[in-house]
Amino acid sequence: MAKTTDPVQPYRVLARKYRPADFTGLIGQEALVRTLSNAFATGRIAHAFMLTGVRGVGKTTTARIIARALNCIGPDGKRTEPTIHPCGVCEPCTSIAESRNVDVQEMDAASRTGIDDIREIIEGVRYAPVAARYKVYIIDEVHMLSKQAFNGLLKTLEEPPPHVKFVFATTEIRKVPVTVLSRCQRFDLRRIESAELAAYLGTLAVKEEVKIEDAALALIARAAEGSARDGLSLLDQAIAHGSVAGEGPITGEMVRAMLGLADRGRVLDLFEKLMGGALPDALEDLRSLYNAGADPLAVMQDLLETVHFLTRIKVAPAAQGFFDGGSAEARRAGEIAAKLSVPALTRAWQMLLKGLLEVRDATRPISALEMALIRVSYAADLPPTDKLVRDLLERGPEATPRQGLSTPGAPAASRAPGTVTQAGSALRAPQPHAVPEGAPTLRGLEDIAALAMANNAPILRVQIENNIHLVRLEQSENSGLLEFRPAPAAPRTLAGDLQQKLNAWTGQRWNISIAREGGAPTLAEQRKAAKTARLESVAQEPMVRAVLDRFPGAEISQVREAVIEDVAAAMPDKDE
Ligand SMILES: [Zn+2]
Repeated sequence: MAKTTDPVQPYRVLARKYRPADFTGLIGQEALVRTLSNAFATGRIAHAFMLTGVRGVGKTTTARIIARALNCIGPDGKRTEPTIHPCGVCEPCTSIAESRNVDVQEMDAASRTGIDDIREIIEGVRYAPVAARYKVYIIDEVHMLSKQAFNGLLKTLEEPPPHVKFVFATTEIRKVPVTVLSRCQRFDLRRIESAELAAYLGTLAVKEEVKIEDAALALIARAAEGSARDGLSLLDQAIAHGSVAGEGPITGEMVRAMLGLADRGRVLDLFEKLMGGALPDALEDLRSLYNAGADPLAVMQDLLETVHFLTRIKVAPAAQGFFDGGSAEARRAGEIAAKLSVPALTRAWQMLLKGLLEVRDATRPISALEMALIRVSYAADLPPTDKLVRDLLERGPEATPRQGLSTPGAPAASRAPGTVTQAGSALRAPQPHAVPEGAPTLRGLEDIAALAMANNAPILRVQIENNIHLVRLEQSENSGLLEFRPAPAAPRTLAGDLQQKLNAWTGQRWNISIAREGGAPTLAEQRKAAKTARLESVAQEPMVRAVLDRFPGAEISQVREAVIEDVAAAMPDKDE
C-alpha cells in the first residue's frame, strides 16, 4: 500500500486512510489468510463464510476483501480465477471498495431482520451476476436475523448456485443457528495483541511523519483492546491533541491524560500504601495523579484491576493481565501480592467496587474517591472476617490480631468496624459493571462521558469528549434522543456505537440523530476554553500580578486547586 503524505491533501481519518485493501494489510489474522490462500490455490472455495469476532477486529473489512478476492480481474482485466492478492485497481476491486458494485450486496441484519429482506436475496440468487464473477452477499450482524429469515436462508445455503457466495459477519456466534453454521467456513478473527498493534501504529506514525513515544503507542494499543480500528481512532485523537500541545513528540503522559488514565505503576504504589497503613502518603499520591489529569473513575477502575491482578497472581502466579508479564510492575505486583491474603484482597475488591458506584454518582468524584480509599485503608487493618469469627470462637473477644501489610501505629481494628463487608470467597469477573436502579439521568455530554467511563469504555469516552457537538439531548422514562454534529475526525461507527451502548447502559431505547451543522463546542474544546479563562482570571489576582511584574517573561503554566489536604488533615493521625 503506497501512501502519500502530501500536506495539502485534506485530512483523512487514519482508520479510513489505512483500511486494508488486501489480506496482507490485515494485521494479526494470519490463520485466516493461510486457510483462505490454501482454499484459493486449490480451487476449493466455500460457498459461505462466517466471520466472527468482537467489534472492531475488522469483520466488514475482511468481508469486502473476500469479495474483491473473488471478483478481481487484474489490472489488465484478463484474470479469470479468484486471487488471494486482489489488485485493488481493476473495476471490480474499486467498485467493491466503494460499496457500489451491483453484484456485491451488503446488508446489515441489525436493521433488516425480516423474512422479506431475505426473500429479496433468495430471489436474486437465481440470476447470474451482472458483471462480476460471483454474486457476493455480505450480511453483517447475521445473528440478528429472525428465525423465519434464517429458515429462508437455509434453503439457499443447502444448494447455492455456483455463482453465489455468502459472507456473514457476527459478534455473537452463539446466536447463529447450528444449521446455518454447519454450512459455512468459519473464521474467528482474533483480537490483535497489544504489542503487535503498537508496532503497527508505530509504522503508521512514521508514514504520517508524527513523532510519538513508544510508551504512548503502548497505551493506545492497550486501550484499543485488540481492535485496529479503535487503535487508529485513538492515534488520530492523540495526533490532534499533540498538535495542539506543540512541537515535541506525543508522550505517554499526554496519551494517559487524553484517556484519563493514571500511570499503572503509580496506581500500584497507591494501592501498596493504602494497604500498608500509609494513608497520608496514599492520599498524596492520589492528589498528584489527579493533578496530572487522571480521572477519578479511571483511578478507581485501575485500582480494581490492580486488586484483580494481585488476586489472580496469588492463585496462579503465572497469570497475565493488567501488568505486562516480566515488567518491573509485574514483579512488584508479585511482591505485594505475597504480603496480602486473598480475603484481604477480596474485601478490598468489594469496597472499591462499592466506591466505584459512589465515585460515578458523586458531584465531586475526587472527594468520593478519597472517602472510598480511606475506608479501604482502615479496613485493611482488620483481620479477615472469617479469621475474626474463628478467633472469637476460639479465644474469646480479646483477640484482634492484625494482618496484611499493616504497620505499627496503625489504628486499632475497633476504630472502623462498620466498614467491614462480608468477604466473598469467589473471584469476581474483572470488569465491574454498574447496574443502576432505573436508568441513570443524563443531563449533558459530561454525564454520557462519565457513564462510558463507568462502564469501562474509555475509547468511547474519548470519542464523546472530542468528536461530539451536542445539539439536543432529551431523556424520558423509556427512551432518549441524542442529536449531535460529529467532528470531522469522528469514526463512522460513532452514532451506531453510541446507540448500542446507551441502550445497554440505560435500559432505554435511544435514537441518535446526526446534524449537519450547529451544536455546542465539544467537551474537549469547552475544557480548553475554561482552562484559558481560568489562567486569565488568575493572572488578574493582585498577588499573581505582582509576581508576574517582578519576573518579566514568566508565565502561568498550571493552576492547581488545594482540594485534598483538608481531608487528609482531618483524618486521625496514623503515624505517631
Ligand atoms: Zn482487482
